[in-house]
Amino acid sequence: MESAYDVIVMGGGTAGVIAAVQAGRAGARVLLVEKTGMLGGTMTVGGINAPAHFFAWGRQVIGGIGWELVRRTLEETGQPVPEPDFTRDNPRPRHLSMDRTVFAALCDETVIDAGSDLLFHAMPAAVASAEDGWTVSLCTKTGLREIPAKVLIDATGDANTVALAGLELVRPDVVQPATLQMHCSGYDPDGLDDEALQQAAEQAIAAGTLQSTDISWRGHDPTGLLRKQGNNANHVWAPQAETSEGRTAAEIEARRAVMRMHRFFRRQPGLEQFRVDWICSEVGIRETVTIRGKTTITHQDYEAGRHYEDAVCYAFYPIDEHLNHGQGINFRILQEGVLPTIPRGAMLPADSRGLIVAGRCVSSDREANSALRVECPCMAMGQAAGAMAALSARTGQDPEDLPMADVYALLRRHEAVVPGDIDLTA
Ligand SMILES: Cc1cc2nc3c(=O)[nH]c(=O)nc-3n(C[C@H](O)[C@H](O)[C@H](O)COP(=O)(O)OP(=O)(O)OC[C@H]3O[C@@H](n4cnc5c(N)ncnc54)[C@H](O)[C@@H]3O)c2cc1C
Repeated sequence: MESAYDVIVMGGGTAGVIAAVQAGRAGARVLLVEKTGMLGGTMTVGGINAPAHFFAWGRQVIGGIGWELVRRTLEETGQPVPEPDFTRDNPRPRHLSMDRTVFAALCDETVIDAGSDLLFHAMPAAVASAEDGWTVSLCTKTGLREIPAKVLIDATGDANTVALAGLELVRPDVVQPATLQMHCSGYDPDGLDDEALQQAAEQAIAAGTLQSTDISWRGHDPTGLLRKQGNNANHVWAPQAETSEGRTAAEIEARRAVMRMHRFFRRQPGLEQFRVDWICSEVGIRETVTIRGKTTITHQDYEAGRHYEDAVCYAFYPIDEHLNHGQGINFRILQEGVLPTIPRGAMLPADSRGLIVAGRCVSSDREANSALRVECPCMAMGQAAGAMAALSARTGQDPEDLPMADVYALLRRHEAVVPGDIDLTA
């Protein structure tokens, strides 16, 4: 580790990895700080290795470093690399599926090859503005380390750095539930007696030994989780998961839910050998806080496909708000030809300088956030954040003052898709 950096990226998840690679490839001295022992965040540690969407309306709308990593992962494991054509007339989600172990290892390799330094098992304890940027106090296993940096990127998903800088956050009254990823086996998914299982589940829920959300997103239907072999099938109440206390409560509740579900299924005929092969080491968090940005993306703008003047990337995904208490999902697909964009202003906290946010906590209302939080837009925001941070560190200009033409030129050099480059009418 060096004694000072141009850019410190906090959080090595979906967005943060890409930011660290982009800033490093653009020549900045970069430190990437990650609280766990693995890069990839929700895509690896959270077990959601299903990036959506690089493609829309028959075009590649998100590319660059995120696509490079996903494409290399598919190639390493011998999976076909899809072409954008299959999305020409279909706005419904088509997730790619890839190996998260290979993806995590490629993230390490790509960050290091970009010349960026990597520090696992560390978190920021404090950030203070300094004459030439910031001083970050990092909590490492052996104590606090103070490191100066010109520009900070908050890619924690929870705006933890923004909060430490004393800047304003938006805390919704209610947040989407979390999900603990797992894999279940020991039964024949096609030999299930749906009706008997439904009845047994209703009795267990009435007796208080099971909660409906332990086994499904909607109602008391246990066959969803069984047929999906546990994949993205439960809901866990997870308020204030941006804090260590809230996160602790969510992890404990998620594993309690697994035990309730495990005990319930093993008592059912045909499921006596039911087992949970693995669970992820962290519950997957859909929503915590957002920053109060210089611009806030509303669902009206998102669903109208507004092209912001300072748009840094595209996003393409339906409104996808998971509801608490087994009420299912508020889901709305985008109208034909709609291609939303994400503005730089939504990545810059109000009243801040030298601080960029990338990932799910950018400034947006809850419905817009439920859509733009998915993995491909987070990767694209990460690349834009890395480009802006590198330019800002080099020129001394605040990210807000960088000419968009310079940001676009750097992004294009690194194969990102820049808003405006796609003409859907052509
Ligand atoms: C259950 C579930 C299902 C989903 N399904 C899909 C899907 O099918 N397809 C899709 O595209 N998207 C899906 N999403 C959404 C998507 O996965 C996430 O919104 C996205 O990955 C978030 O990216 P991020 O970079 O903002 O955060 P993350 O990927 O979570 O990264 C944040 C990183 O920061 C680290 N960190 C956090 N706090 C600190 C700190 N204080 N200091 C240092 N490091 C810190 C974390 O350990 C993590 O590595 C799903 C999400 C969930 C939870």
